Amino acid sequence: MNQLKFLSNGGEMEILIREKDWSQTTIGNPIVWPQALRTTLSIILSSKFPGFIFWGKDHLCFYNDAYRPSLGKDGKHPHILGLNGKEAWPEIWDIIKPLIDQVLNTGEATWSEDQLIPIFRNNRLEDVYWTFSYSPIYDETDSIAGVLITCVETTKEVMARKELEKTIDHYHENIMQAPIAMCIFKGDKYIVEIANRLMLELWGKEADQVLGKPIFEVLPDAKGQGLEEIMNQVYYRGEKYEASERLVSLIKNGILENFYLNFVYQPIKDAKGAVKGIIAMSTNVTEQVLSRKKIEENEKKLNLVIEDSKLGIWEFDFKVNNGVFTDRYAQIFGFENKDNLDRNKILLLLHPDDKNIRDLADSNLIKTGYLNYESRIFWEDGSIHWIQVNGTLYYDKDKPLKMIGTIRDITDEKKYEKDLIEREEKFRLLADEMPQFVWTSDIDGNLSYFNKSVYKYSGLDERIISDGKWIQIIHPDDREQNIQLWINAVTTGHDFVFEHRFKRHDGEYRWQLSRAKPQKDKDGMIQMWIGTSTDIHDIKEMDDQKDFFISMASHELKTPITSVKGYVQLLQSKYKKSDDVFLTNALSILNKQVGTLSSLITDLLDVSKIKSGSLVLKKTTFKINELVEDVIGEIQNINTKHQIIFCAEADAEVFADRENITQVLVNFLTNAIKYSPDSLNVNVKSSTSNNLVTISVIDKGIGLKESDRKKVFERFYRVEGKNEKTFPGFGIGLFIASEIIKKHDGLIGVNSKLGEGSSFYFSLPLEANS
Ligand code: ADP
Repeated sequence: MNQLKFLSNGGEMEILIREKDWSQTTIGNPIVWPQALRTTLSIILSSKFPGFIFWGKDHLCFYNDAYRPSLGKDGKHPHILGLNGKEAWPEIWDIIKPLIDQVLNTGEATWSEDQLIPIFRNNRLEDVYWTFSYSPIYDETDSIAGVLITCVETTKEVMARKELEKTIDHYHENIMQAPIAMCIFKGDKYIVEIANRLMLELWGKEADQVLGKPIFEVLPDAKGQGLEEIMNQVYYRGEKYEASERLVSLIKNGILENFYLNFVYQPIKDAKGAVKGIIAMSTNVTEQVLSRKKIEENEKKLNLVIEDSKLGIWEFDFKVNNGVFTDRYAQIFGFENKDNLDRNKILLLLHPDDKNIRDLADSNLIKTGYLNYESRIFWEDGSIHWIQVNGTLYYDKDKPLKMIGTIRDITDEKKYEKDLIEREEKFRLLADEMPQFVWTSDIDGNLSYFNKSVYKYSGLDERIISDGKWIQIIHPDDREQNIQLWINAVTTGHDFVFEHRFKRHDGEYRWQLSRAKPQKDKDGMIQMWIGTSTDIHDIKEMDDQKDFFISMASHELKTPITSVKGYVQLLQSKYKKSDDVFLTNALSILNKQVGTLSSLITDLLDVSKIKSGSLVLKKTTFKINELVEDVIGEIQNINTKHQIIFCAEADAEVFADRENITQVLVNFLTNAIKYSPDSLNVNVKSSTSNNLVTISVIDKGIGLKESDRKKVFERFYRVEGKNEKTFPGFGIGLFIASEIIKKHDGLIGVNSKLGEGSSFYFSLPLEANS
């Protein structure tokens, strides 16, 4: 068999070829086989790569050892060797025949990858995948005599791939339905392969905005937050990365939002362990983190408050008979901190005199479930301190479970309280010794304390007056106004000032001037009221006598002065043309002085009338501007130095006493001239607003201090100082003016600045409203 050298390498297929009886086939014994067949056969038989040959027009089949496993068990091997193709591969002849023909007819090789060519093996028709090439085998005559098939069975790979695809599909499905945000980034550009709805929501993007794109191109703001470094680490090192409550800021719908995320980046590896991508799973824990942070913050605040309040906190667990104490608790008992606290010593520190307080608190605790007491304790250094203990008992059903409470060092408060009591004692002693009445009230106006003088004067005992019945001391005619003014003071916080009559033990009423001032704390909050009442009865009587005297005197003087005035004027007209200069001058001075005297007496009479309430108004309707012009005319006649300029902004009618209003205006104008000696102008202005007409007299004179501004309308008030002598007057003009305007339901006042001038004004209701 030397001629069969190509079959002598010892493979299974060589043996089979050698042993087969080829005489029955169309190609006869191997000795006569054409060289082309022999050469090709020898190549494939010595090759470790699977090879198959269809030879001749019958397509006789040859294959090598490497091909053999693809035929499986109990299949075509070995009986298809030398069989014609159609018989050997009936199940796929339809598929492969065209390929064979193509090669035979065109001489061109074919190439197919992972092609499904099911074959019968292992007793059944199996799906087998192949990557193969059909190429022509030329014989000596250069014609194509057979087809060489080099092939590899790729069934395992295809199946593995299909399995992988299925797994990935499944994976994708899982990702899409996952209850947490999930996505897959592919490759080192981290291209978004898939992202579920939750992930898209977290990014604030729609699927088409992100799928197939590198994630850091889609979310550039995430790049600078260390996320790319983390992904690089996962990708290049192949290590999983887990983050907990990581702060990530993303711009969502144009707004920068902060998230706290728990996430896992897991590398996706292929069969060989090479990282192909990253699967990311993320849970948005922002709400939980924020609410936890809030709780932590509140806890911190609470601790700060507790620390600030200097409260010691304690908790006692009855189940384990053990307590937990804060450092402050220990410090209140004189220990350095809770670690040095000796619980057994605590009870011994209680002041023996306060033992009953503690016992009482304990028995109350059993009854009510609350522990409250204040007692003294001894520190180890012998000093005495006050503590205030509060606690609440917590039960499990009926059994005490634990008690939680606070402790406060109230030593300073107690000392302050003691000082206060001592001070109050002193104040009482002082107040009781005073002849004046002293009384106090709480912030609501309830009178709570009266000094001894009140009881002595009224003859009433403490119980009666302090029981809110002090009003009985006040004269019945003064009560209503008294109550009104007191309520007003208490509600507004303004001083209370009132002249009223107090009933003495013998039934006689005496005038008192009462004043009360609110006492405020450092924050300006009213704490109490302190009042005094001073007996002004005698002064008042003298005042009445004075008023009576003034009234009588001015009455008595009025007639002679009027008569003197008449005679002076008669004499003046009689000696008008006299050459006796002395006589005419004397008469003129006499007339002026008598005029001054007469107007002074008129003023005094007016004061008396006002005091006695007999000032009667004779009201008529007139134009206020006309009256102002008339008065200005008169005053201008006798005062030539100042120029009075009237600016009439309003032309209003009033219903008023013409004579009285004239008197007010005269007073304003003469004052303006009198108190502005260095000025040349006085301005008068009329204006209307809010149904009132206002007349203002403005000067650039000496002006008034704030404290004087309110008082100039009081009777006999004159600004003190050197001006008193410079400017003659009685201090009654503005008092009369103010009483007249009040009687007209009008307003009177002054705006002024010391050294810069004053603007005195009065307002009257317009005719339609009066
Ligand atoms: P008198 O007769 O003293 O002027 P009035 O009652 O008219 O009495 O005025 C009371 C006080 O008011 C005056 O003594 C003066 O101190 C002050 N006063 C009144 N008008 C003016 C004014 N135009 N400028 C400055 N002070 C004035």
